[in-house]
Amino acid sequence: MKAARMHEYGKALVLEDVPVPDFQPDEILVKVTACGMCRSDVQLVDGYFRKYADIPTPITLGHEITGVVHKIGGTVPKSAGFHEGDHVVVVAGWGDGTCRHCQMGNTQICPNVRWPGFGPVGGFAEFIPVPARYLIRVSNKLQFEQLAPLTDAGLTPYRGIKKLRDAGALGPDRIVGVFGVGGLGDYAVQYTKVLGSGATVVAFDRNLDKLAIAKEYGADHIISDKGKSSADISKELSKATGRSDLDAIIDCAGATEMMQLAFSLLSISGHYVDVGLVGDRIDIPLFPRVSREQTFHGSFWGNYTDLSEVMALAAEGKIRHTLKMFTFDEINEYIDLLRKGEVMGRAVMKF
Ligand SMILES: [Zn+2]
Repeated sequence: MKAARMHEYGKALVLEDVPVPDFQPDEILVKVTACGMCRSDVQLVDGYFRKYADIPTPITLGHEITGVVHKIGGTVPKSAGFHEGDHVVVVAGWGDGTCRHCQMGNTQICPNVRWPGFGPVGGFAEFIPVPARYLIRVSNKLQFEQLAPLTDAGLTPYRGIKKLRDAGALGPDRIVGVFGVGGLGDYAVQYTKVLGSGATVVAFDRNLDKLAIAKEYGADHIISDKGKSSADISKELSKATGRSDLDAIIDCAGATEMMQLAFSLLSISGHYVDVGLVGDRIDIPLFPRVSREQTFHGSFWGNYTDLSEVMALAAEGKIRHTLKMFTFDEINEYIDLLRKGEVMGRAVMKF
């Protein structure tokens, strides 16, 4: 089968022919039909994660995976209802199944987690073996190119917004800021409208084209933060909404300067959830965080339940997408484009 594998950090992926992987009795061999490309693919190649996990090479990249059930392992229960030809999406974050986090359903934060796309098997390959419990069957009316990005870009902000909702930070009298409206932020705007109970949504970015998409997807207001001070933006926010600060923030970028700006706009008792990883460190004043009783939430990817909910929204046609399709042979070209920030919406490889 064809596979795009990283043999050396910092180098282009090697597009090669490799044997179809073996699969365990509790796994399903999935024929990949589409796989999204994520900024974290670029970061993996560039060595961003190396100090946290030095993954041995070769690594098959690609973790936004959808496909078709090809072969079913012998111990996959019949009651699971999988049949050859079923359309499926892959829940990433394969936990050990034994720890407290796995038992609570949050397999993506298991200390012994394995990730497709960050090890031997990944979605930039024609086949991938997946434990049956990490597959969700979906309607064959849904398009593969839309399903693929929903497993990360369209999932991660969903979990983040749920955290804001569960913290009581959303409601008709609340103002929510979405910072960074690229691949994840487009979805974050839509989920804030769906789960926000009438909250006002304001999108922030430096790129006007990206902001225009956010507006189209339901942002009540858009504000360009390019070259502006926090005071300028606060005034602009006040003009747009009647309030100069934000009750809740979802940060889809995690860029150092943008985080400093976003924190400066966070209200008393505000909640901040970060799902972006562009930067590596933040440097923000401490006193306002304490005296204003603000809360920071890390939110990592999503679990099986989160993805099931996203799939339900997709099945109802409630999610809009901005996609850029490419072929297997163009993988390295797209890694470069993504590194330069030159992809609008989500890049998706389709076989
Ligand atoms: Zn676990």
